[in-house]
Amino acid sequence: MSSTDRPIIAGAGPVGLGAALFLARQGCTTRLVEIRDEPARQSRALAVNPRTLTLLQPSGVTDQMLELGSPIRGVQFHRSGRVAAALSFAGVHPKYPFMLGLSQATTERLLARALEAAGGMVERGVRIVACRNAVDGVEVVLEAGGGLREIAKGPWLLAADGAHSTARQQLGIDFVGSSFKQEWHLADAPLRTTLADDHAHVFFLDEGAFLFMIRVVDEAQKGRANNPVWRIMGNRSDLLSRLVQAEQTGPPVWTSSFRISHRINATLSAGAVYFAGDAAHVHSPLGARGMNLGLEDAWVFSELVRNGRLPEYDRLRRPVDRSVVRRVKILSRIASAESWFDRFIRTYVLPKAINIPSIRALMAATVTGLDHALPRSVADRTG
Ligand SMILES: Cc1cc2nc3c(=O)[nH]c(=O)nc-3n(C[C@H](O)[C@H](O)[C@H](O)COP(=O)(O)OP(=O)(O)OC[C@H]3O[C@@H](n4cnc5c(N)ncnc54)[C@H](O)[C@@H]3O)c2cc1C
Repeated sequence: MSSTDRPIIAGAGPVGLGAALFLARQGCTTRLVEIRDEPARQSRALAVNPRTLTLLQPSGVTDQMLELGSPIRGVQFHRSGRVAAALSFAGVHPKYPFMLGLSQATTERLLARALEAAGGMVERGVRIVACRNAVDGVEVVLEAGGGLREIAKGPWLLAADGAHSTARQQLGIDFVGSSFKQEWHLADAPLRTTLADDHAHVFFLDEGAFLFMIRVVDEAQKGRANNPVWRIMGNRSDLLSRLVQAEQTGPPVWTSSFRISHRINATLSAGAVYFAGDAAHVHSPLGARGMNLGLEDAWVFSELVRNGRLPEYDRLRRPVDRSVVRRVKILSRIASAESWFDRFIRTYVLPKAINIPSIRALMAATVTGLDHALPRSVADRTG
């Protein structure tokens, strides 16, 4: 392997971008390849948690996010026309006692801009088609437009190539877990509503249906201050006909349906190939953890690179990721209440449980990403 071979990152979603940024700021230049020619326009994630705001603060990205975003101060759970329970984020974090409403597309744009400022870039229109461990690192087959192929070598590969990771398939790593039977659905639509827009809202409806609602905060919002777009997500396909306390004022700007899975790689490292973000773990969007947890993977990974401790990545990271996947699965099962037991918990136990301080604190910590400490030996730099 030549001394000029750079480490390779597959995928310029938020996690690949975050990893390249954290590493570039330490003087480690990577080769970040991305299959898509253009940045994504649709935003899956709409909320950035305090842990992510802390990790991105030294890069200046957090200040830019705070300028564009809007604080979400808690969650209200509605049942039979009233707020049955509420969860506040007050006091969860000394500096950021809120989730920040901000679209994933904006977050990715800010990360890409910071990466460029730190001397990095995204190679667009290039995909990883194969990868393998070599004697002193990795060999990766890259394919650009027109089918042009290149074999790239590097000391390591970070696979941040999403839930259907090519690298995971290439290395034959099990993606252990299960999927829900029902699909979930989402619509981003303009609404007139009396719902507080500084809160997320969960409606428990009849026959196990639920709706999750949160205002979409993106760069287009300034032009539609009087006609705000909200994300409506739930486990029934006729979401928009089930709206409560809200009236649709225009056609949806985005609709989608997706299968909910809770899975984690059997290992987060195989030789010199490492996994982060959705390439390593997936879970339901309830809890707003996917992008945030992946950015934390990226930060831990970059700190281990800095300290020459990459072999510890799987040991340090997988237990954290596994426990988040487990916890989000429990929350999601209760919300979607596919079994009579979960429906009972959702109707009778949850509203009371939220009033128990320790449970309330655990739920708030889970949603805000503060349910675990960063590994002590790499945590000193977060400020
Ligand atoms: C409805 C919904 C709402 C959500 N809300 C939240 C939220 O509020 N907060 C939160 O934290 N998370 C949320 N998530 C989860 C979040 O969107 C994902 O966890 C996040 O996008 C993962 O980032 P990633 O970079 O790991 O993967 P991705 O965003 O999937 O990026 C992977 C990238 O790799 C590229 N790629 C794929 N294959 C290759 C290849 N072979 N070669 C090169 N490039 C490749 C892809 O084009 C893509 O750009 C939500 C998800 C959904 C579905």
